Amino acid sequence: MPKTDVQCRFCKKPDFVYKHGIGSGGHPRFRCTDCKKTFQLDYTYTAHKEGIKEQVVKMAMNGSGVRDTSRVLGIGLNTQHFKKLKPKQITHIPFNNIQLICEVDEQWSFVGKKSNQRWLWYAWEPRFKRVIAYVFGRRTSATLLKLLVLLKPFKVRFFCTDNFSPYESYLPESKHITEKAYTQRIKRQNLTLRTRLKRLMRKTICFSKSEEMHDKVIGTFIERYYFNALES
Ligand SMILES: [Zn+2]
Repeated sequence: MPKTDVQCRFCKKPDFVYKHGIGSGGHPRFRCTDCKKTFQLDYTYTAHKEGIKEQVVKMAMNGSGVRDTSRVLGIGLNTQHFKKLKPKQITHIPFNNIQLICEVDEQWSFVGKKSNQRWLWYAWEPRFKRVIAYVFGRRTSATLLKLLVLLKPFKVRFFCTDNFSPYESYLPESKHITEKAYTQRIKRQNLTLRTRLKRLMRKTICFSKSEEMHDKVIGTFIERYYFNALES
């Protein structure tokens, strides 16, 4: 066992620390033979460095899973940067005289295990190419109703959807269009979200372990790329 001149993180003694393999972030682990504890130096420091929190969030918004982020930034897997995110919703669009043509769609990802589907429902404004409201939940009428509450502040002229039955029950018939051609744009948008967010990619093993993290990462993506852009 090669001896090092590293100081023990726990008991602070310098003379008992030996190399102890490589940790999950690719950094060397150390073991103190005095207090018997193991530790890493690099990830501990890196995760607290200035700007790292923002980089972790940015990587998640650009197709990286936690393992990619951990390898690239040299930080531990369990950094809780997403917990503090508080994505907002919007209640108006800062343009005059707009009557929205709102395309509503939903798409699933899963949390924890494949059988635990979590649907993202969102309304898309085709003229300005923006998500204007979204909600997470099961593929049920209850989730649709939550989305409709968020859409209340907007003057929606038409709702364009596929012919999933809850839409027919809750959207006013005179404002409801189910033509396939109208929903093609939002399907294309589904694809963009899936490209950017690894949590929405079906064929990877990257999925969120908790609904809280899942919703916060996707919500923050929508906030940054649609809502904030609307206000600026
Ligand atoms: Zn020690």
